[in-house]
Amino acid sequence: MIRQDFSQTDTWVFDLDNTLYPPHMRLFDQIEVKMTDYVSTALGVDPTEADRLRGHYWETHGTTLAGLMREHDLDPDPYLIAVHDIDFSVLDPDPALAAAISALPGRKMIYTNGTAPYARNVLAARGLSDLWDAIYGVEHADYHPKPDRAAFDRVFGTDGFDTTRAAMFEDDPRNLEQPHAMGLRTIHVAPAPVIAPYIGDHTPDLTAFLSQLV
Ligand SMILES: [Mg+2]
Repeated sequence: MIRQDFSQTDTWVFDLDNTLYPPHMRLFDQIEVKMTDYVSTALGVDPTEADRLRGHYWETHGTTLAGLMREHDLDPDPYLIAVHDIDFSVLDPDPALAAAISALPGRKMIYTNGTAPYARNVLAARGLSDLWDAIYGVEHADYHPKPDRAAFDRVFGTDGFDTTRAAMFEDDPRNLEQPHAMGLRTIHVAPAPVIAPYIGDHTPDLTAFLSQLV
């Protein structure tokens, strides 16, 4: 029974984008446009080439930012400010999700490949502020992105929680492989399931899943 499976869990780690809001709200689409614009301007290439490069960075380095830093020695902070300067009004408050997260016993945190200030904007628009013991962004991982092991080591090590009593919720299955190896329970939050040995559970409905646990 699922509730029994999580009876020892006392730390809850949530990804942000497309995990704490549904993909159909399309917030991340705005960021995608800003990232392509930034790559195009920074590298002096047209948008088509910028998109191709972004695909290459995503495959090779995990994120656009990691590719820009490793292949072009780009300064991360101006990039992070530019790509997160978007319209948050496309997000709706979600009181049911807020209640489900609030009911979880123990420590709750956000870990996003965005930044903590950006996360606070998203959480405010979703009515999910004030639920968190910690909010970690890429700036807390020395700009290493999920899915890199170094990123998880840095953020989880800084927080200091017991990984064997923790669960992580994520829409990108790649970002669950290292947490699984570190002992966390892994829950893939997405419309369609993905079969992988490091995915413990899948749900298309985070609120419904959490509501089974308490
Ligand atoms: Mg995500």
